[in-house]
Amino acid sequence: MVVEERLVTYINSLDRGNTEILDELEREAKRSDVPIIRKEMQSFLKVMLGMKKPKKILEVGTAIGFSAILMAEYNPVSCEITTIENYEKRIGIAKKNFERAGKQEIIHLLEGDAKEVLPSLQGTFDFIFMDAAKGQYLHFLPQVCRLLETDGILISDNVLQNGEIIESRFAVTRRKRTIHKRMREYLYELTHSEEFATSVLPIGDGITISVKKGSRI
Ligand code: SAH
Ligand code: MG
Repeated sequence: MVVEERLVTYINSLDRGNTEILDELEREAKRSDVPIIRKEMQSFLKVMLGMKKPKKILEVGTAIGFSAILMAEYNPVSCEITTIENYEKRIGIAKKNFERAGKQEIIHLLEGDAKEVLPSLQGTFDFIFMDAAKGQYLHFLPQVCRLLETDGILISDNVLQNGEIIESRFAVTRRKRTIHKRMREYLYELTHSEEFATSVLPIGDGITISVKKGSRI
């Protein structure tokens, strides 16, 4: 928990909920232990979509399609969403869910490892949501930067590792040490890159929001 639990409970008690299909998918995800974005990220994305009104969205990490459908439902303008997933079992479910939500025309699922898929993508995006394996964000960053338009928005999820990011690497279990190191490097890169202006926010599981700078900021 990055933020005190009671505070999270309070903030989430103010949440107005989602469309029916999203509520259903959220329940299904919880039942089958599929990770999906938390309430705090849901409302954050809705606000960002309302402000940016993106036309072309890229998501890294589809799972069963919950966040892709949320973005499709709550973006105030019509858009195309490209989303990448490599876990076969989830790909089939995500495709079915896009149909259930009636979003199969605008959400395009690319199957495969983002490491290979990202370099193969042409064109640019004005909104990118990074929500795949945390240890790989750093490796995806150059491609994500290439694919993001100037003034485009990059949001990444799960960047504070339940708060463990502030611990020394010796205090985290060996199993998590590599991710810990890479996530710190990712946050350093993102906040020190000339290409982005970035804010790290301790909500949900820790998120970043970045804007790709022109030559102005
Ligand atoms: N954005 C989703 C949740 C994604 S969970 C939602 O909120 O609904 C993260 C997903 O990223 C997992 O399903 C995992 O299989 C996928 N993933 C992890 N590493 C990946 C990679 N290198 N390439 C493609 N998908 C990856
Ligand atoms: Mg996540």
